[in-house]
Amino acid sequence: MALTVDALLCPQNHRCPLIPICPAGAISQEGNSLPRIDPGKCIECGKCVKRCGMQAVYKAKEHGQTL
Ligand code: SF4
Repeated sequence: MALTVDALLCPQNHRCPLIPICPAGAISQEGNSLPRIDPGKCIECGKCVKRCGMQAVYKAKEHGQTL
């Protein structure tokens, strides 16, 4: 199951603080744009989901979507 970042919840105006806490190095960001989670690297530990202050990271299935 893939994790993704909700573009409506993420303000996209700062460096994502989740990048350094991801143990798999799965989160990347161009400038202050919407962070991207690489499904090939993510081990689904859930740290980013818990730590995002905007609660912008979610499992796609929870929104009824598939990636
Ligand atoms: S769930 Fe864990 S491994 Fe996956 S992107 Fe979030 S912090 Fe990184």
